[in-house]
This record gives sequence, C-alpha cells and structure tokens, in this order.
Amino acid sequence: MNLLKVQNLKVHFPVKRGPFSREREFVRAVDGVSFFVATGETVGLVGESGCGKTTLGRAVIKLIEPTDGRIFFNGENLAALDAETLRARRQKFQMIFQDPYGSLDSRMTVANIIGEALDIHRLAPAPAARRERIENLLNDVGLDPSHAQRYPHEFSGGQRQRIGIARALAVEPKLIVCDEPVSALDVSVQAQIINLLQDLQRARGLAYLFVAHDLAVVRHISQRILVMYLGRIVESGDAKEICRSPKHPYTQALISAVPVVDPDSKRQRIILAGDVPSPIHPPGGCPFHPRCPVAEARCKTEVPALREVAPGRHTACHLATVEK
Ligand code: SF4
Repeated sequence: MNLLKVQNLKVHFPVKRGPFSREREFVRAVDGVSFFVATGETVGLVGESGCGKTTLGRAVIKLIEPTDGRIFFNGENLAALDAETLRARRQKFQMIFQDPYGSLDSRMTVANIIGEALDIHRLAPAPAARRERIENLLNDVGLDPSHAQRYPHEFSGGQRQRIGIARALAVEPKLIVCDEPVSALDVSVQAQIINLLQDLQRARGLAYLFVAHDLAVVRHISQRILVMYLGRIVESGDAKEICRSPKHPYTQALISAVPVVDPDSKRQRIILAGDVPSPIHPPGGCPFHPRCPVAEARCKTEVPALREVAPGRHTACHLATVEK
C-alpha cells in the first residue's frame, strides 16, 4: 500500500491586487498535484526556485493548509481527522529543513532540541530513558553523544544538519520531507549527508520526499522523480529512465544543465529563455510555452494533460509520444 497518496492538491495564497486595492488575487503555488510515495521509497521533487515544490512539501505534512485536494497517509484521509488524532499522526511524518542554521533554536542545547520532540509525543518520560534515547540518536547520525549539552553554534553546518535529522528521527517517523537538505552545505559535506540519509532509510524503512532544485542530487538519491513547473507536475516516473530519456522539454533543459564527467560527451546545454512566469497570472495553454524551445501554435491555447506515455511514466506535453 502507498504510504502517502496526494490527490489534486492545491495551495492558493491570497494577495492584494495592489498596495491600495481591496481586491484580492491568488498565487497558485500548487495547482492540482497528484502523486504517491511507497513505504521505504525516495521520491525526488525537482524544479527551479519558485515552482512551488517547497510549498507542496509543506502542505503534504500539513505545515501549510491546502486550499483543495486530499492527502492520505497510511490510507487515512488527513482532512477527516479531528485535531487530536491529527496531532498523534504527525509523529509519523517529519521534515528536515534547508537551513541547518535557522531551523535549530540557538538558545537550546542539542539534548533539549531532540528531547523536545520526544516530550511532545511522550515517547521517553523517564529522565534516564530520555537521555539514553538522545544519545542513541546522536550516535545514529554520526555525532558524539558526549556533545549533547552543547549549543547549535558550536557545530559545523553539516553537523547541524545531522542534529536536524536526529530531531526528525526522534519520533520514529515513516516519512520525512527533506526540503533542500544539502543545498546550503559544501559539496563534500553534501555527499556525507546524502549517504547518512540512505543508511538511515535502509536501517529504518523510511520513505523520503526529497525536494531539491539540483537534479544531480535528486537523481542520486531517488527511485522516482516528479518534475514540477509553475505549481504542476509536468513529468514523473522512474528516476533512471527520466534522466536517460526525458520526455518533457522542461526536464530536458534541467538534465542538460547537470554537469557530465565524460569529456567526450556530446550533450548540449539547453538554455531556457526568461524566468519562471508569475504564478498569479500563469500563461494560458501549456504554462511552459513562453520558454519552450519547441512550442507549437496549439501550445498557447491547449493545456496538455499529464498522460501516461510508458508504464509508470507520465508527461504533460502535446508532443510526447506514447512508447509502444
Ligand atoms: Fe513545449 Fe508545447 Fe510541450 Fe508545452 S506542450 S512543453 S509548450 S511542446
């Protein structure tokens, strides 16, 4: 059974039409997204900055209230749960944040940062059990348990991200939304954190929704990939297949930007014109058409559906052909 199932999720934020206007319009940050994450699986969510991927990650674990759509966790519709049951279920889905500096309270010791999560869910009420659990968690993420009484500023960026991971693990989650967890770190430290996440996944059967703008990182860690553009999924499927043979022109451009080690590679970089358009007034037809290097006349008026073009592979492009 799918651990997480998201159906037609929308997150629209109201904004004023102008500084003196009472009229409101809406930022369509997430605009009708459906996907699933299986137990123990990593699904990568990739797209440029401003495409809505962070908002989607937060909405999935109810840090942001969706405007519409349904989220099922372990088969339960989260919107149908009363507040107390939802609070209990929250234990099973956690988040690791991009900024290992800002996401930890600088006035709290590491023991209290991790212990706070245990206290909220009453997982280790006795002081000795609490201490032992905190020390085990620090050990599991590769930190010295004797440093439990230190403060976040006494650790490096990579070590602080390990503290964030230990805090998320404290409540024994089944799903962790990793929001750009390595993009603020040096490249050498990035690899260590990715390896740690993979080791923890194997040991604990965790599922990850791994949100990142860097396709090289997403490709490395994910079994499946969702490519997001202007609040919608434009391509999804097996990670290796998407990287080997991207169907959507936007995915092709993202992959062309990933550095290749092979000096004989003939791959050409596809430079996209302009920036991601405003999600307040997205272009009509295919939202990607103003930047698409192969757009046709119908792309300006007809919205392409997200179609299955091969088993388990979906693409929202009029030109994508179905594999026989
Ligand atoms: Fe490009 Fe048209 Fe495909 Fe959109 S539908 S990605 S504009 S070719």
